[in-house]
Amino acid sequence: MKRALGKVVGILVIPAIAIAALVVLADASLARQTTSIAAKMPSSAEPVPALTPYVDGHTHFDEKDIPGTIRSSLAALGRENAAMIFLQMPPDTYSHPGHYDAEVLLAAAKKYPGKLAVVGGGGTLNAMIMESVASGDSGPAVQKKFRDRAEELVREGVIGFGEMTAEHFDGLTPYQYAPADHPLYLLLADIAAEHGVPFDLHMEAVPQDMALPSGLKSPPNAPRLHANIAAFERLLAHNARAKIIWCHLGSDFTGLRTVELERRLLQAHPNLYMEIKADPEAHGLNYPLAADGKIKPEWLKLFTDFPDRFIIGSDQHYPEPKGQDRRWQEDILLFNQLSAEVRKKIGTENIAQIYGNSVAPYLRAAKN
Ligand SMILES: [Zn+2]
Ligand SMILES: [Zn+2]
Repeated sequence: MKRALGKVVGILVIPAIAIAALVVLADASLARQTTSIAAKMPSSAEPVPALTPYVDGHTHFDEKDIPGTIRSSLAALGRENAAMIFLQMPPDTYSHPGHYDAEVLLAAAKKYPGKLAVVGGGGTLNAMIMESVASGDSGPAVQKKFRDRAEELVREGVIGFGEMTAEHFDGLTPYQYAPADHPLYLLLADIAAEHGVPFDLHMEAVPQDMALPSGLKSPPNAPRLHANIAAFERLLAHNARAKIIWCHLGSDFTGLRTVELERRLLQAHPNLYMEIKADPEAHGLNYPLAADGKIKPEWLKLFTDFPDRFIIGSDQHYPEPKGQDRRWQEDILLFNQLSAEVRKKIGTENIAQIYGNSVAPYLRAAKN
């Protein structure tokens, strides 16, 4: 098994080298760096809106320009035919200067209910998990502090917890690893279930321990990656009422987040959802679109076999970085190829089901 996997990884290393410059873009927060590749949508082209309304469940923003963030994300709604945009915090650590969380944005975003919403915890809950991994302390005092903070965020108005991470390559926020079944992740699943809110997890797929993929540097990344799929399955199984969104489907930088793996996990875990991110400037090693822009047949079959389990999460930054291809646009070029029935689910219905009362009443009005 190990040998066979070594072979697979060996094969994957070649494309990984070829897109080395892109691999460093694995993190959402690197949007300001640009590396163009073929099959991209020219930035100057007129944007193509979604054929039917959708919610972008995963975007980021400029924490130093909240008025600009609000203005540009509101303006994007009409241009994209987006019913709502959810703004998230990047997964960060306490030792990283400039980390922030939902409080920087909540008051401003709450003025636009039904249009903008905030997913929080990346700058604190995620940081607490990383701190606990480093110290080895996940005892009662740490757990209480974690629960108190999570519940504070819910009281303040976040609609979900994110962006959390279990395996994250270095970018604008540092390299981070935590076992997906870390005691604080299991606790987060319980808190999420109790409050009826989901959490959004950034995790490179690592079925077996492996060397860091070629093209990524260590340091800052770890030289070896820990297996995480079995731990992720323990997290999913821990509390069946916890809705867990595995983000960045289509933005895979180990090459091991395959359609087969997605299918197996969706089959086994009814509380698992996935966010589609098709980044025109940093194609993942398993990318849903072919060079001509068409959805690859095995991906189309995945979306249509599990229409209730996917949402859009483009990882777009607002304000949109100048001179850069739009991530939301690539997602929408994919979305527009789906049948009307599947679009309706992936566009708004699944989001309403996952996020519940905080957004569902607004989405009922969306004209699918
Ligand atoms: Zn993100
Ligand atoms: Zn991410």
